[in-house]
Amino acid sequence: MVKETIRVYARLKPLGRRQQAGIYSVDDEKSASSLEIIVPRDLADGFVNNKRESYKFKFQKIFDQEAKQDVVFDSIAKPVAECALAGYNGTIFAYGQTGSGKTFTITGGAERYSDRGIIPRTLSYIFDQLQKDNSKVYTTHVSYLEIYNECGYDLLDPRHEASRLEDLPKVTIMEDPDQNIHLKNLSLQQASNEEEALNLLFLGDTNRMIAETPMNQASTRSHCIFTIHISSKEPGSPTIRHSKLHLVDLAGSERVAKTGVGGHLLTEAKYINLSLHYLEQVIIALAEKNRSHIPYRNSMMTSVLRDSLGGNCMTTMIATLSLDKRNIEMIIQLKSEIQELKDELALVTGKQRTSQLSQEDLLQLDELIETFLEDSDPESTLDVGADMRKIKYCFTYLKLRQNHSKISDEKLLSHHISEEKETSKEAEKEELKKMKELLQQRDNEINILVNMLKNERKKAQDALFQLNAASAGSTSLKQSHCINVEESQNPSRFFSVKEAKDLSSSVHRLPFLSRMKEGKMSLGCQEAFEVFKQDHADSITIEDNKQLLKQRFAEAKCLGEKINEVRNRINHLKGEITQRHIRRAALAVSSPSEVLDALDPVEAKLRTQIEEEKKSYKTMFNRLKGLKVEIEHLQLLMEKAKMKLQKDFEVWWTEGGTNLQTQQEKTVLVSSLNTTMVYPQFVKSSQDLSANSFSETARANSNEDPSGKNSSIVFNNPTTKIRTSPSSSTSIPLTGDSQTDADILAFIKARQSILQKKGLGNK
Ligand code: ADP
Ligand code: MG
Repeated sequence: MVKETIRVYARLKPLGRRQQAGIYSVDDEKSASSLEIIVPRDLADGFVNNKRESYKFKFQKIFDQEAKQDVVFDSIAKPVAECALAGYNGTIFAYGQTGSGKTFTITGGAERYSDRGIIPRTLSYIFDQLQKDNSKVYTTHVSYLEIYNECGYDLLDPRHEASRLEDLPKVTIMEDPDQNIHLKNLSLQQASNEEEALNLLFLGDTNRMIAETPMNQASTRSHCIFTIHISSKEPGSPTIRHSKLHLVDLAGSERVAKTGVGGHLLTEAKYINLSLHYLEQVIIALAEKNRSHIPYRNSMMTSVLRDSLGGNCMTTMIATLSLDKRNIEMIIQLKSEIQELKDELALVTGKQRTSQLSQEDLLQLDELIETFLEDSDPESTLDVGADMRKIKYCFTYLKLRQNHSKISDEKLLSHHISEEKETSKEAEKEELKKMKELLQQRDNEINILVNMLKNERKKAQDALFQLNAASAGSTSLKQSHCINVEESQNPSRFFSVKEAKDLSSSVHRLPFLSRMKEGKMSLGCQEAFEVFKQDHADSITIEDNKQLLKQRFAEAKCLGEKINEVRNRINHLKGEITQRHIRRAALAVSSPSEVLDALDPVEAKLRTQIEEEKKSYKTMFNRLKGLKVEIEHLQLLMEKAKMKLQKDFEVWWTEGGTNLQTQQEKTVLVSSLNTTMVYPQFVKSSQDLSANSFSETARANSNEDPSGKNSSIVFNNPTTKIRTSPSSSTSIPLTGDSQTDADILAFIKARQSILQKKGLGNK
């Protein structure tokens, strides 16, 4: 029987060097701990308030900032894993705001092996225990489900095609007549050992990462449920026992918590994150004694976990918290500043200021504006006082009026033109010719830009294909490395080629990459990727892990050699014993009474030596086993980091291109209607591009050449010729506005420098 069914823990996230902890204290008592958070009075509300300053929460145990992953696992997850091994279902949730450490606690950090979280540690623990127990036959499966907006998705889909969450198989809930829940489309993958289970976890995490784009930060809004399914059967017995252990990374809790208001807004916030609210309802209902109805059906998550919460199951929640003092201080400061300004304003105007103008104010303003417009005196002014709300209203009013009268103005204008038609026919012809020329010129410029864009995109595609191929190459290197180690430590086959292959296949998963056709790596894209890589935080992690991996491989190799030596020594000692047996047997034939009864002290010594060697063999073997798990974990971390890097690059590169393209499409459209509109559109696209895609190069260029002496751009206002290269010159008339012109030039300069770097500038 499970004794305490619902346990709640807290974990405080360590703060960065420059962060300071908010005011809190942890009080550890025997059976429970309490966390007290002090919220200074002025923060709690506006001016007069009687709100609490101190909030105290009780937990089973609080893990302060220094708590390490192994301690968290031992206290929180191990008991639940033990229950699962004993045949009871269990669930562990991580609950908290985005960034507070839920994923770190459940899955682990992406950098260090020691940072691995509850899932890999639980898998390791469970498989260790299963191996030790010979009394039953065990089967283990895992599943990985993501719930986003009440829809379930199977993260263990092996087809490697998902580029969006919607591409993954949709999981639906079915209920049989006995009210048992079945999840249609959720794959249960068999995992016979720790490695297989970890590979599946990696597959799921990768699908989770790929399905997320910067536009859709699904992970903060979705729940992820990793489930370990254990079946056990005693030999000869017909009964099979099933248990499930769910490890849940919940959606960020911020929407409900951050509003800090009652009524309408709170209801809305709860609606957005309804499933967390329903989970809360279920947990509260389970904690209450004598509750007959538990509202499981309200959400997908509670339905999925229905048989693993409360009752005869272990339910553990870990609340992750990030208490940064700066947030509290900043809010206090801003609130008091706002209040002071409000007071000052009230003093000057004699009125309390609200955000909206009253109906009365609006009527007064309408009247004032009409009077002003009707006044024929050119000196007349419109005075609404120093109130931004009123000033804004006046502008809106005038704009509306302007639009109303536009049509009649246009009619008037055409009438006027027709009157002058005859007299200015010649001039108009001339004007038309000029306009046509200008239009032609614009079309040429646009064509050049579109071609530039096409070239960049082609290069990007080529480069990524090449990159893909390069990654595959590096993996095969890794494979051969693995094989070396395998050979050198032959006592047990440690690193199988198949595993390495499985791992490498993940590299080909990126949909962007898989769309690539054969081709050569373009210099431009290669360089962009290099620049991007240098600045990407993950490349440091990859490099660090690479070093660590090398070290571990060397260690493993060395250990493998030592193990071989020990094995040889044991064999040698065994051989010596056999030799002695033979000698003694021969001796026994010649003089039986002397030899056979006496104990051979030499043999006894040899046997002790063998025992000692065996001991050291075992120690080294276990160490090698640990190393193997660590190496595999590091390889997975590296793969994950590499894929993230590629994915980030893909997003960055595509976005840069798309921005430029859409802007240019707009330009084409606008230019055919009205050429004077071309400039702002063009400037916008150049700003986007220089800000997004080429900023690094632009910066690098300005460092190298602060005076711009080496640049081949020639600037002659007002009709400026800009030469991107000696042979291809494009004339781009500037706007005359120095800021905008500077932006255009910055863009072209950035482009120029990238072309030069690529060695394309002078072609
Ligand atoms: P969440 O999943 O709640 O949004 P994460 O787990 O992604 O938050 O954590 C945010 C960042 O803080 C990550 O970079 C993570 O590595 C780091 N982090 C969280 N908790 C810890 C901890 N206990 N120790 C060290 N780093 C942590
Ligand atoms: Mg997370």
